[in-house]
Amino acid sequence: MNALAATNRNFRQAARILGLDSKIERSLLIPFREIKVECTIPKDDGSLVSYVGFRVQHDNSRGPMKGGIRYHPEVDPDEVNALAQLMTWKTAVADIPYGGAKGGIGCVPKDLSTSELERLTRVFTQKIHDLIGVNTDVPAPDMGTNSQTMAWILDEYSKFHGHSPAVVTGKPVDLGGSLGRDAATGRGVVYAMEALLAEHGKSLKDLTFAIQGFGNVGSWAAKLIHEKGGKVVAVSDITGAVKNPNGIDILALLQHKEATGKLSDFSGADAMNSDELLTHECDVLIPCALGGVLNRENAGDIRAKFIVEAANHPTDPEADEILSKKGVVILPDIYANAGGVTVSYFEWVQNIQGFMWDEDKVNQELKKYMTRAFHNIKGLCKSHDCNLRMGAFTLGVNRVARATLLRGWEA
Ligand code: NAD
Repeated sequence: MNALAATNRNFRQAARILGLDSKIERSLLIPFREIKVECTIPKDDGSLVSYVGFRVQHDNSRGPMKGGIRYHPEVDPDEVNALAQLMTWKTAVADIPYGGAKGGIGCVPKDLSTSELERLTRVFTQKIHDLIGVNTDVPAPDMGTNSQTMAWILDEYSKFHGHSPAVVTGKPVDLGGSLGRDAATGRGVVYAMEALLAEHGKSLKDLTFAIQGFGNVGSWAAKLIHEKGGKVVAVSDITGAVKNPNGIDILALLQHKEATGKLSDFSGADAMNSDELLTHECDVLIPCALGGVLNRENAGDIRAKFIVEAANHPTDPEADEILSKKGVVILPDIYANAGGVTVSYFEWVQNIQGFMWDEDKVNQELKKYMTRAFHNIKGLCKSHDCNLRMGAFTLGVNRVARATLLRGWEA
């Protein structure tokens, strides 16, 4: 089942549990606005080339819409739609005053030079600048984009609207980016996991972890777990996988990856087959790479007792069912990886206030938001007798439904 079908299914189940009437259910599902623009740029050799850019603005009942912009060859409107909707529920779960959006350009970023990427980003911004804004829609980096992309959007947008650092988040710190933003998603994953484990009377220090993906989210999560005394027994990325039943020295592994570009040949661990990472013996499995990795084929073989969904949509609905029958507790993505958007919100707040926070304050506030959201989710799990995924969906959908109803229907 693709991301859109799975998101719609979870939404409909939450709407049923909440007893939403069909008018509001329909209104919550349909995006507020879908934007499609053609971006034509001169390539470095002087030839002209066109790319299609999308922005789906899903819902703004709780505040400006928020979500990433990705540069990827397979950016398609259906997927962007699903991801925009997910952002609406995610920002509501975290209780930050935003709605949801997502966008992208269908291109292969590695095939474009830096100046071509800059021209493409500026043309895309020229086409959508009237439809985004500090109080309207605030983009952020996503797959294939980064802080430099946000700097170009900020610069181009500011030509039309005056200096507006809060129009994007995930900016370089020199242009008003927040301290702690780089680590925020991985750090949020660890705070979320600590709240879950405390509920089960457990602590990171006593448990073993297997982590799929050693990029931004996976490496920060691994580093923080290691610092807090947890034992990371297996790690994989696109280049391979390593294991050590006594715990991997994550700082040494990071240095090895930095020096060689790969995980293999690390002297502090044994090589293993990447396919075995997900079914490796551990207490907590943290998928931090791709969607759909836990599916009907491998769900029965998972040995972890807890799964923390740091990646977006790593668990297929069929796997969800199999794992839940096995008694595996799953911390869902719309909550577990909300640390990034939460610190994006802190960045926007700092830009609007014109006052920068120190990193300790960012991390303390992040912990507060992640812990509070966990207890809010648990409250709904109790009152609706449902699992954590449905607890998170009912929490998010109910907050957006309430805001929509309070604002009223009259034109
Ligand atoms: P990233 O590109 O920095 O890292 C991705 C990692 O996955 C890399 O280490 C890569 O080698 C690894 N990988 C790719 N294919 C793999 C495979 N077949 N087997 C094992 N590892 C593989 O990306 P990221 O920013 O760390 O994002 C990871 C996931 O978290 C994605 O699903 C993303 O949508 C989600 N997410 C990220 C953020 C964020 O702030 N970065 C926020 C929310 C959700």
